[in-house]
Amino acid sequence: MSAPERPFALAGKRVWVAGHRGMVGSAVVRRLAREKCEILTVGRKEADLRRQDQAEAWLALAQPDAVFLGAATVGGILANDSRPAEFLYDNLAIETNVVQGAWKAGVKKLLFLGSSCIYPRLAPQPMKEEHLLTGPLEPTNQWYAIAKIAGLMMCQAYRRQYGADFISAMPTNLYGPGDTYDLRGSHVVPALILKAHVAKQSGAKSIEVWGSGSPRREFLHVDDLADALVHLMVNYSEEQTINVGTGQDVTIRELAEKVCRAVGFQGGLDFDASKPDGTPRKLLDVSRINALGWKAKTGLDQGLADAYAWYLAHVAKAA
Ligand code: GDP
Repeated sequence: MSAPERPFALAGKRVWVAGHRGMVGSAVVRRLAREKCEILTVGRKEADLRRQDQAEAWLALAQPDAVFLGAATVGGILANDSRPAEFLYDNLAIETNVVQGAWKAGVKKLLFLGSSCIYPRLAPQPMKEEHLLTGPLEPTNQWYAIAKIAGLMMCQAYRRQYGADFISAMPTNLYGPGDTYDLRGSHVVPALILKAHVAKQSGAKSIEVWGSGSPRREFLHVDDLADALVHLMVNYSEEQTINVGTGQDVTIRELAEKVCRAVGFQGGLDFDASKPDGTPRKLLDVSRINALGWKAKTGLDQGLADAYAWYLAHVAKAA
């Protein structure tokens, strides 16, 4: 394999966004529209990435120079906990098929997406990249985490054995346009937006918030993530994964209050202690990506207002 290109300029390149219908993939496609590259996408009907023959055939045909690997089976705390086989199988299959297929097709650069939930449950906060694999995982999302850890390791392995310029990034909890709005499968931001919107419409006095309200989470707008991923594709070429976040967190109670303000719902919050809290705190140390010259731009209040506007235009309107 030829020596990696550094920086990896996107102009004139064929860039495949795997998972372009998802929240992350669609944000990457929006962001790439500003680069002078050719964007490639493929639907699940044409290439089911869980099938090795289909994934490899697509890569051999499309011949991308670069791949953003955002295709994954994802979901909130309950979805993860109740569909362990799907979370493990789908994600392992997608990443092994795409990484191996990309290497065989001569892809010059690949960026794989991990997730902050794959750090140990009780990792020191804020979490640094070197905390990966230093302790037991959070049980509610261990299936997804194991699969994503395997994906990260694949990128490292292909770099070590074959010299492939495959990198991985570790985004924190995401929200924004393209999010999934259904109460059982959603992450906390869309779930609370949906609940607050419905409560405002019906005149309900309060909304239900799972758990105690005390866990702390960091939330990154997906358009900020897409911008970071393009920055990394161009500028980052190391074996170690790299965190992408805002470096700031809030409690779930604070988040719920902010969501109610963004939606204009003035009722109260009912905490349901029968639902799981999950990891007590999840905050990334973002000093490495900041040192590379990238910082998140969207504040949480502004980002939640943007997410609610997208919900009104795309989900509430369709319903
Ligand atoms: P996590 O970051 O992997 O735990 O994923 P989630 O986004 O699903 O949940 C984050 C936190 O928000 C957890 O402590 C949840 O219990 C809490 N939470 C509060 N209300 C809700 C809700 O309606 N839906 C979800 N998914 N989480 C909620």
